[in-house]
Amino acid sequence: MNLETTCIHAGYQPEDGGPRQVPIYQNTTWYFDSSEKMARVFDLEELNYFYTRLFNPTNDAVASRIAALEGGVAAVLTSSGQAASFFSVFNICRSGDHIVASSAIYGGTYNLFAVTLAQMGIQTTFVAPDASLDELKKAIQPNTKCVFAETLSNPSLIVLDIEKFATLAHDSGVPLIIDNTFPTPVNCRPFEWGADIVIHSTTKYLDGHGTCMGGVIVDSGNFDWDAYADKFPGLTAPDESYHGVVYTKQFGKGAYITKIIAHLMRDLGATPSPQNSFLLGVNIESLPLRVKKHLENAQTIAQWLDAREDIGFVNYPGLPGNSQYALAQKYLGGTGGCGVVSFEITGTREDAIAFMDSLELISIATHVADARSCVLHPASTTHRQLNDEQLVTAGVSPTMIRLSVGIEDVDDLIGDLEQAFNKLKG
Ligand code: PLP
Repeated sequence: MNLETTCIHAGYQPEDGGPRQVPIYQNTTWYFDSSEKMARVFDLEELNYFYTRLFNPTNDAVASRIAALEGGVAAVLTSSGQAASFFSVFNICRSGDHIVASSAIYGGTYNLFAVTLAQMGIQTTFVAPDASLDELKKAIQPNTKCVFAETLSNPSLIVLDIEKFATLAHDSGVPLIIDNTFPTPVNCRPFEWGADIVIHSTTKYLDGHGTCMGGVIVDSGNFDWDAYADKFPGLTAPDESYHGVVYTKQFGKGAYITKIIAHLMRDLGATPSPQNSFLLGVNIESLPLRVKKHLENAQTIAQWLDAREDIGFVNYPGLPGNSQYALAQKYLGGTGGCGVVSFEITGTREDAIAFMDSLELISIATHVADARSCVLHPASTTHRQLNDEQLVTAGVSPTMIRLSVGIEDVDDLIGDLEQAFNKLKG
């Protein structure tokens, strides 16, 4: 199936006379005739649903749909993108381990790695995504367990050289984990460039309507955990907390995702509500149509902003003069990759805030990737926990505005921006 068809049909095949759409299984538990059967199900010897914290048919159908979109072998939904980021690394890292991460990542992920994981004894070395492979290799340590990066970073819009990062990871015997939230599988499928695991904040384009928080972790099934068995005992040695199961032996290519479900979901429980998963599944059906319109609108607005004199800098990978243009041509199908455009107002931090307050149609929201256009001032919101030096490393400046271009009529959006610029001039 091609992508548009996959968005609509993958993950759910109705039975004869069964519901045509993915049904909402809004139940927490399943009924069994005998305790013996339930014990077999608990031991993962027999597959059956038993408790929604671990498995639920609605959640599973939507996870399978996203796995198919990314070209992976298995996936699991989480209750937020943050939970997906955390689980993706915590599934293979423990206290004393180390991560190499691109410095151009979402502020929340930066904080998760730099502060929370550090408090748990997992250290992260942040690297510049444009560093040479030789430079990047200096960050790898004997206890490094994964390399983490974003395909297209939020909000700095740095396009990752995925092949370079895949070489870095694989030469070091560890997987490459990619956050593919901004491009979505419509614009980039990181497994095709060597990534091993993909995560998303599904709260963004996959939902796209601001209706449900969520995340997903997809495994390509390509990383050979057994080849580096000493590095990944959680997958290759018996899990005494789960009846001595050895995930790679019992579940083969499904090992990594099964461990997330059987171990992390069991103990940490970041399970999405089936109602949310249902909405996510429905909204994915229009993903290719929406992404196309987001890209068209963003490209038009980026060009319009770029032609203005009262703008310091416009950042959109679809602009030929952009530093990321060549990488976007290669990895993002020759597009700007997403509907997010960032720009710097000429003036002060206060001017940037006044400009945003003057907008009438475009709303101020802590959100991106929504059908409705919205703006945000990263330095005083999503990235406020970073100091000036960290802000520069993350590609954020004090007058930078992040505009998430929606799927409204582009002339209406330009009209709103124009009147806000006029008010600023004053
Ligand atoms: N990854 C990226 C690239 C994001 O932009 C975000 C949120 O903005 C997250 C992860 C975290 O996702 P969530 O807000 O769904 O927890």
